[in-house]
Amino acid sequence: SGKWARAMAILKEFEDKCGTPISKLRQVADAMTVEMHAGLASEGGSKLKMLISYVDNLPTGDEEGLFYALDLGGTNFRVLRVQLGGKEGRVVKQECEEVSIPPHLMTGTSDELFDYIAEALAKFVATESEDIHLSPGRQRELGFTFSFPVRQTSIASGNLMKWTKGFFIEDAVGQDVVGELTRAMERKGLDMHVTALINDTIGTLAGGRYYNNDVIAAVILGTGTNAAYVERAHAIPKWHGLLPKSGEMVINMEWGNFRSSHLPVTEYDQALDAESLNVGEQIFEKLISGMYLGEIVRRVLHKMAEEASFFGDVVPPKLQIPFVLRTPHMSAMHHDSSPDLKVVGSKLKDILEISNTSLKTRKIVVELCDIVATRGARLSAAGILGILKKLGKDMVRNGEKQRSAIAMDGGLYEHYSKFSSCMESTLKELLGDEVSESIVIELSNDGSGIGAALLASSHSQYL
Ligand code: ADP
Ligand code: MG
Repeated sequence: SGKWARAMAILKEFEDKCGTPISKLRQVADAMTVEMHAGLASEGGSKLKMLISYVDNLPTGDEEGLFYALDLGGTNFRVLRVQLGGKEGRVVKQECEEVSIPPHLMTGTSDELFDYIAEALAKFVATESEDIHLSPGRQRELGFTFSFPVRQTSIASGNLMKWTKGFFIEDAVGQDVVGELTRAMERKGLDMHVTALINDTIGTLAGGRYYNNDVIAAVILGTGTNAAYVERAHAIPKWHGLLPKSGEMVINMEWGNFRSSHLPVTEYDQALDAESLNVGEQIFEKLISGMYLGEIVRRVLHKMAEEASFFGDVVPPKLQIPFVLRTPHMSAMHHDSSPDLKVVGSKLKDILEISNTSLKTRKIVVELCDIVATRGARLSAAGILGILKKLGKDMVRNGEKQRSAIAMDGGLYEHYSKFSSCMESTLKELLGDEVSESIVIELSNDGSGIGAALLASSHSQYL
């Protein structure tokens, strides 16, 4: 019928606009490299902030003692307790607890959020078992992973530049987040010292390096997306401090804020951005990360329902609600391998209250998921190529056979296998067979938590 044809036309047009041929991905990668240079050259020189992390030494394996870590950056936060045993013992013991953040705290006040976190942390500290002993007179030390853009002023202090990923707490912007946490811990009577402030990419890089010396970069694909890598200190013109002994500095790219005219942005992405909490910002993130992929699918389905009666004569009311269709649901539909696509059918029914969908309709939904996931995955691969180019590791030099590893983390990478396999095959395609052999991508499961504890240790006040 005419309606079906109209729905297919909407889908086809979306697919065309989402196209990521290799030539386009190379342009995106080149633009990424250019912006990296610009962001390193001067403060505010690029959409890519290329933030100096003050981490100039990555873990060696010698780290020892009891350390805490706190990971805040998405819908949950986690508290960790890690017993490090040096070269021999490595990670002797690791305990972790995950706490969800009530949505109202994500848009409330700074004190409310940090009080909630400090309270959960205090409860966790209280569960320290008998066999754990802190040296007498010593304060507990914490690595604080705070995954929002922060302008660091030292390894253990930094001011929040802006919120992302659905957080919006106005009175915290511009504040030193370590100060905010420390005061909240004091209010709760918790005696703990923050020795390192990092974000999840730096934590993943540190955790990845602890286990594998070849790790040179880390990429997060979770609720949001970001990357960090090891830069040569003399290649950072905007750094006016002393050159670190190591000659290296870890850079937090904040690549979620990357944008370029080469990015395939559609009308749906523009509308999503216009209605977001951070209009005009985090454009790369809005094309790639877990917070947004399901929402993009919802927007296209909504258009198909409204303009082509794709789900019948009335637009399903649930389909109008922003963010009802979450990326894990999208992923479940995308991976549905049953002959009648019953997972797709039940997701449409349970989440969107659309019942009795035909197989033909379900197939279209899967196709739509594929278009959105494929674009995100291929753009992520282009971003990684951008980093490799910056480091000169996108080519094999004569006789050089150096391996490089990229530590990956985040729920999207970990659980959305069609996304991660597409990203990896695209990177192979971009690099070619020979170079691909020298680049390893590895899941650094919870590397960020361990990484924070390791950096807390290497920046201990007792060293
Ligand atoms: P965060 O990024 O918030 O620190 P995670 O790394 O655990 O947390 O990533 C969580 C995100 O990963 C979710 O917001 C969701 O977008 C995505 N995700 C989680 N599970 C799945 C899944 N099964 N399929 C696809 N995406 C998933
Ligand atoms: Mg995380």
